[in-house]
Amino acid sequence: MIPIPRRRPARHAFAPALAALLCLPLAACGGGSSGAAERTKNPQSPRTSAPAPQSPSAESPSARPSAAPTLPPGPGGTTPVFSHGRRDGAKRVALTFDADMTADQDKRAARGEPFDNPQLITTLRRLKAPATVFMTGKWAEQYPDQARSIGSDPLFEVADHSYSHHAFSTPCYGLPTVARGTARQDVERAFAAFRKAGVERIVPYFRFPGGCYDEAVLREIAPAKVTAVQWDVVSGDAFAKKAGPVADQVLAQVKPGSVVVMHCTRSAAPATEEAIRRIVPELRARGYELVRVSDLIAGG
Ligand SMILES: [Zn+2]
Repeated sequence: MIPIPRRRPARHAFAPALAALLCLPLAACGGGSSGAAERTKNPQSPRTSAPAPQSPSAESPSARPSAAPTLPPGPGGTTPVFSHGRRDGAKRVALTFDADMTADQDKRAARGEPFDNPQLITTLRRLKAPATVFMTGKWAEQYPDQARSIGSDPLFEVADHSYSHHAFSTPCYGLPTVARGTARQDVERAFAAFRKAGVERIVPYFRFPGGCYDEAVLREIAPAKVTAVQWDVVSGDAFAKKAGPVADQVLAQVKPGSVVVMHCTRSAAPATEEAIRRIVPELRARGYELVRVSDLIAGG
């Protein structure tokens, strides 16, 4: 079933109706302003002065053998939310890439539609640009070799973007919704898919599909002991046909501590790799150090 948007349209440089409908799950992953919208309505976030990081609990079922720092739980033990790092610290920025694949997209992948973007990963390696990849469990199942390769590279860390890329709260761009009471299982199913694929550098971070969440789901997934990671810079790479506007948008918004959301799928973010070839050197020329999300969280 093709999802129909129920809420505000995503903010894209290019979003013809058909493409938007066909590729909505990707748009819902950060192509729009959902993160900001959710943050506005959710009193838990953003944390402009993030609490001191702490090590993941040893008994956490989701915190894999990573020493990655996490935030302490929010009020009442809810899942903490991280949107950006320190503004008054060093000029550091984290590029994040959502490797989306929705549970019902197998047939499209089987017909040859590329939900991966190996050239993007190659370019990040060539540029020695660290990144955090928010991967769906479905993506790891579809591309286990790539998932393993990304996860074995010290340049990268692999975080959780749900198993199914379904919405964890509604409305959320018309995404199918995770069944009530199964949100935690969906999060942990993705971690399990990573482990099955042989991914090594798994970090206990979770990005809600569409950035959509509410208090109830922050409580529901709390036992997974993840830190939810939003963003403060929307790249607009979803459906973008040209790299220039994507690079311009990122470069115009980045501030010290920023988390940039982009995508790792050629299917609906075909300009991302070209945009990165400009974004990375320009950020460095402006004095920015590229880091992973774990580095920003460690920095407070
Ligand atoms: Zn997504």
